[in-house]
Amino acid sequence: MVVRDLTLSKSRLTLVKFSSVKSHIQSLIYIYKRPFLIGSVLILGALFWGITSTHSSLNHRIELKLGTYLAKIAATTEFRNVFLSEPKFKHTVVKGDTLSKLFIEAGLPQSTMYKVLEADLDVLVLDSLLPDNIIEFWVNDEGGLQKLVVFYNAAKQIVFTRILDGSFQVEIVKHEGVWQHRTVSGEITDSFYQSAISNGLTDQQVLNITNVLENKFNFSRDIRSGDKFKVLLDDQYIDGDATGESKILAVYVLSINGTYSAFQFSDGNFYDENGHNLYAEFQRIPLNHKARMSSKFNPHRKHPITGRITSHNGTDFAVPVGTKVLATSDGRVEQVTKHPYAGNYIVIEHSEKYQTRYLHLSKSLVKKGQKVSKGQIIALSGNTGRTTGPHLHYELHVNGSPVNPLTAKIPSGVSLTRRQFINFLSLVKRRKIMMDLS
Ligand SMILES: [Zn+2]
Repeated sequence: MVVRDLTLSKSRLTLVKFSSVKSHIQSLIYIYKRPFLIGSVLILGALFWGITSTHSSLNHRIELKLGTYLAKIAATTEFRNVFLSEPKFKHTVVKGDTLSKLFIEAGLPQSTMYKVLEADLDVLVLDSLLPDNIIEFWVNDEGGLQKLVVFYNAAKQIVFTRILDGSFQVEIVKHEGVWQHRTVSGEITDSFYQSAISNGLTDQQVLNITNVLENKFNFSRDIRSGDKFKVLLDDQYIDGDATGESKILAVYVLSINGTYSAFQFSDGNFYDENGHNLYAEFQRIPLNHKARMSSKFNPHRKHPITGRITSHNGTDFAVPVGTKVLATSDGRVEQVTKHPYAGNYIVIEHSEKYQTRYLHLSKSLVKKGQKVSKGQIIALSGNTGRTTGPHLHYELHVNGSPVNPLTAKIPSGVSLTRRQFINFLSLVKRRKIMMDLS
């Protein structure tokens, strides 16, 4: 795939020429043999975007002047004055339109439609047209189709152009436009979703915000009436009109339980305002020193007291009563309780995915609902519950199932370097000014 950037007077254009992705989509060809129904194939549209986004990493960019580009097109295709004339037929797509019908209305043969559809195999655009898309048919001196243009939105057009052998090539024209910051603020009255929507955010933006803070703050469980949020967005505009494209730059939540923030750094990752990667990191063991393991994680262990074969869902560390027990990752204390067998124990939720448990404690140093961070001392080890001696029993659950904490794949957040951290702090400062938070 080749991407060419054209510099125009006002906005920036990106032309994307697709290489063949036919191997991915051969099975979809049958679509073209049927009457084509607008809006009935959204899934194919989604597939198309999936394919193009995976291919975009193969792009390379060449800067060209518009004149150079036009000269090149003219030299390699039958391109004739099409920029200087009107399209033969222009149509705003409505529900029920078929490509076949549009070709008839444009007075063009179905054989040409099939040639265009052959080029469409590379992008799968024509079967995912939506109402309000605009389609233009441009013809050459002989009355044959020279160019077919689909206006997806103000930022994106798909152009099918006839080349010398009579076949068509397809290009996606992207206008970079102008990105403008917008801050959305709200106060929770009912739910975060309700407040966010009534403050002008879309469903997709709500989902993205929720995901960004997933490891720190649960917008359905942790949010309270009166909590406030601010979101900094970057919206795309072409000639003053919003295209609907939007990026999240920062999220800030002022909750009764504390302050939660997420700032996107130049590496694309989100960090809290102290530079901690929001993908919470884990340490292997809940101790600040190595300790002898008295019993390993074992799904089929013969229990030392009952003699029955039961699973040992955790790892036992033989440590004296009073040894400091550390949270293995950032999270929220879910449970501080006492159990006849587990003794005094603590459960920490780290995200929807990860949970840790600390058993047989002598003393808990945290309360239910409290936020804890990785390495924080949460308890002192003990010998409570059913034990054969003082030890700490530690469990790691992934998606609700216990796993071996010493071998399981656990998140290891990438930290910022000292230089990146300095840049990050200055970015946070600028963002907070923009969000009226400083
Ligand atoms: Zn144990």
